[in-house]
Amino acid sequence: MVIGSGLAGLTFALGAASHGKVGVLTKGEITESNTTWAQGGIAAAVGEADSWELHERDTLIAGAGLCDEAAVRFLVQQAPEAISWLQSLGARFDSDGGDLSLGREGGHSRNRIVHHADRTGWEVERAVSEAVRSNPDISVFENTFATRLLMDEGRCVGVQAHIEGMGERIFTANSVMLASGGCGKMYQHTTNPSVATADGIGLAAAAGAQIANMEFMQFHPTTLFHTQMRSFLISEAVRGAGGTLRNHLGRRFMYDYDTRLELAPRDIVARSIEAEMKKHQTWCVYLDTTHLLEPQLTHEFPTIYERLQTIGVEMEKDWIPVVPAQHYSCGGVVTDLQGRTSIPGLYAAGEVSCTGVHGANRLASNSLLEAMVFARSASYACVNERAEGTGKIEPIHAISEAEAIRIRRSLQKTMTENVGIVRTFDGLQKAARVIKTLIGEYDRLPNAPYSQYAVEAKNLLLGAENVVAGAIARTENVGLHYNSDLGIIE
Ligand SMILES: Cc1cc2nc3c(=O)[nH]c(=O)nc-3n(C[C@H](O)[C@H](O)[C@H](O)COP(=O)(O)OP(=O)(O)OC[C@H]3O[C@@H](n4cnc5c(N)ncnc54)[C@H](O)[C@@H]3O)c2cc1C
Repeated sequence: MVIGSGLAGLTFALGAASHGKVGVLTKGEITESNTTWAQGGIAAAVGEADSWELHERDTLIAGAGLCDEAAVRFLVQQAPEAISWLQSLGARFDSDGGDLSLGREGGHSRNRIVHHADRTGWEVERAVSEAVRSNPDISVFENTFATRLLMDEGRCVGVQAHIEGMGERIFTANSVMLASGGCGKMYQHTTNPSVATADGIGLAAAAGAQIANMEFMQFHPTTLFHTQMRSFLISEAVRGAGGTLRNHLGRRFMYDYDTRLELAPRDIVARSIEAEMKKHQTWCVYLDTTHLLEPQLTHEFPTIYERLQTIGVEMEKDWIPVVPAQHYSCGGVVTDLQGRTSIPGLYAAGEVSCTGVHGANRLASNSLLEAMVFARSASYACVNERAEGTGKIEPIHAISEAEAIRIRRSLQKTMTENVGIVRTFDGLQKAARVIKTLIGEYDRLPNAPYSQYAVEAKNLLLGAENVVAGAIARTENVGLHYNSDLGIIE
């Protein structure tokens, strides 16, 4: 039984279906996922001048000494094969004279980003979801929200889920794959779609699984700042193509922060933008792509170009207003190389997991790769799992939507103000107090008619509790964790 239909969940389903029947539960439609939104691409050492050793080195440098070296090696060695597997499912990647055309992103020492224009995730999700749809051994349950992991004598034996229009149901299974993606909705500004509500962290925490590294939250430096449109990511590839960052006075301010300018690692660019906005008391900074001509922009960045046009921004003429926003969770449910969690029968892969490959900071375009590599490995490992246990439906405590809105807004405010790019001990303690209070309020509020939105609020609270606890416990500034009370990162 799989929870989630992004790249991790569907990759696992396709592998496991060679050995038995697989069910995929997904809370929206099959393609509603972070995967579908991924723009830049997938990292793999497939170029002539590249090697897995170089990819490994770059990943370890990004992870700032906290990567699990065995996991990184496994990831980078499996990468070329994972790309071939996607191609075998019909995924189309940009090519040049028959060879894959490889992009470059911050932190990579070689061109190694396999992509489909600026909509790689959409293409990958299309290919895997079509393969899943045509596989007779996989059943997909859309609009089905996993509400609880079924536990029997310490083993995970299935999932309780709410099927829209039908209510709570029990799905027993020999093994359960948690592939529920990210947790961006705990912040006010995020690149993640609305399904990213930390459900996997909530489910795993309730079942007692080991969770780690949640304090390493990646903020993307350049997302569109617009009052009417949700945070929309302006890919790093735009800076790779020479886009420059300017403050409201037109000054190229990255000169003041890092010699690598706009192509410094993401966390440094994000921190620099935040500092610049604070310095000038502005709501945003600007990304200048006016040196590029329309044909190149529409060819390389068709989605971004079209989206900006709808709000009257022409990339070849106008500066794009941008702000940093939450983007990716490096931590999650701890797994081994086969995706096994600390709970027998429970596997995890993709953004919800903590395989150790990202350490303190994720190298760009390693996450789609991680989702695939570890989900495939888990699909082989789970073959011999057998579970006898069953479970019975337990009531799910849902509060009213009005209260859920209030609680979610308070949580987002405290996370954004106190657990963002730059943290302080006082801010973290304040966030911990607010979250504890909100959890208490949620638990004491009376039962209301079932609402997924409300249950998600509880998962967001449990996820945020883990982020803050990790940030308080981290006593040095490393990778994505930056506490100004601890001094400067070299
Ligand atoms: C805008 C954007 C751009 C990105 N660009 C890149 C990139 O270029 N390269 C890269 O490597 N990474 C990129 N990423 C990150 C990458 O997309 C994700 O880390 C990756 O897709 C995660 O895959 P996943 O399968 O773990 O989760 P997801 O793709 O998010 O899938 C999670 C699934 O779980 C379902 N789900 C969640 N909770 C429940 C529940 N309780 N019950 C049932 N179903 C549930 C969701 O509906 C969804 O189907 C980007 C992310 C974003 C948001």
